[in-house]
Amino acid sequence: MTRNPKGSTRRPILIGGGQRDIFPSLPTLAIDKRDLDVLFCIYPVTKEGRMEGGVRKVYDVIIVGGGPAGLTAGLYTSRSRLRSVLIENGLLGGQMTTTELVENYPGFPQGIAGDELSRLMEEQAKRFGLEIVPQYVVEIKLEGDKKVVKTEEATYLCDALIICTGTEYRKLGVPGEKEFAGKGVSYCATCDGAFFQGNQIVVVGGGDSALTEALYLTKFVKEVTIIHRREALRGTKIYQEKVFGNPKIKMLWNSVIQEIRGDRTVHSIRVKNLKTGEVTEHDIQGVFLFVGLLPKTQFLRGLVETDEDGYVLTGENGETSVKGIFAAGDCRKKLVRQIATAVGDGATAACAAEKYLEMKG
Ligand SMILES: Cc1cc2nc3c(=O)[nH]c(=O)nc-3n(C[C@H](O)[C@H](O)[C@H](O)COP(=O)(O)OP(=O)(O)OC[C@H]3O[C@@H](n4cnc5c(N)ncnc54)[C@H](O)[C@@H]3O)c2cc1C
Repeated sequence: MTRNPKGSTRRPILIGGGQRDIFPSLPTLAIDKRDLDVLFCIYPVTKEGRMEGGVRKVYDVIIVGGGPAGLTAGLYTSRSRLRSVLIENGLLGGQMTTTELVENYPGFPQGIAGDELSRLMEEQAKRFGLEIVPQYVVEIKLEGDKKVVKTEEATYLCDALIICTGTEYRKLGVPGEKEFAGKGVSYCATCDGAFFQGNQIVVVGGGDSALTEALYLTKFVKEVTIIHRREALRGTKIYQEKVFGNPKIKMLWNSVIQEIRGDRTVHSIRVKNLKTGEVTEHDIQGVFLFVGLLPKTQFLRGLVETDEDGYVLTGENGETSVKGIFAAGDCRKKLVRQIATAVGDGATAACAAEKYLEMKG
């Protein structure tokens, strides 16, 4: 038996010795059972006995999503010498990469740029050998107790799966939103803010994202109007104070956008006042939408239990309704969605996955 640094056992299997009659010159070779899985999964045989083409790489743990939850889970599993791969279709760091300054992640008293924090987390996970694959996961299936993870390019197998796919912005669903996406309509101030130098823009929403993004946008634009459907903001008090103290930010309370208008790019919006019913038209060049989040869990529907919005239901260690599938970070149902909580979730789910693999043997 070999013992990894965390104490879990991996049984070497002797191959060659028992097949001496057939291959007399074959040397006896001790390899790990999990390495043998890799060999068996090349050209797997279907139930009908047909050989399926293609290589299905086998891992102890697959992590889907490379935000703070996924990178932390990957750091823990690879440091525990579990064969781990992280599959991420976008930028490593997830939503952190779009955050200009993170002020509330412990250890950085002056704050740290979101993309720098992402780079540091990636470097730390890679240091322990985490494999990272830039692909998009489209489907997850079960084959016995193995989990089959399909991307647009390949198929992977694992014993334990950790879902860390985070959230995406909820759409407003008004005429013009789709047509002008990328032509004046944006969901990311750090990505697109610089295109609106000297412009008049609106930010829609009343939570932390809307407030922090409005503050960031004042660096570039002439004026930001925050449009909010209620009479009070939901965002953290410290951000509210900064917003109300910023001469470039105006508020439009009790109001909703009814239509976004333009030709090649946005030139105006129609806004309805929910108290008076009055509809007015405003000349603006940019619309930044921050009206809530939805989990990126469509590919999991029907496999694990979720709430009505699609947030994955988990136990306190990230375990889902399916044995060996865990969820961490913003995609799970929970109270606080922040980097600090995503990192805690990632570490917890990784340790729970390791325990699951030890019990499974
Ligand atoms: C504008 C903004 C500002 C913020 N500011 C702060 C702040 O100051 N402090 C703070 O603590 N938090 C902040 N947050 C929240 C914080 O960024 C999130 O809570 C945190 O990033 C969640 O981490 P996560 O790993 O769960 O998900 P995410 O960071 O969303 O990462 C999920 C990753 O999964 C990938 N993915 C999704 N589906 C698939 C798939 N099918 N296949 C492959 N990959 C997939 C995505 O591409 C993404 O990279 C902010 C968020 C935003 C949007």
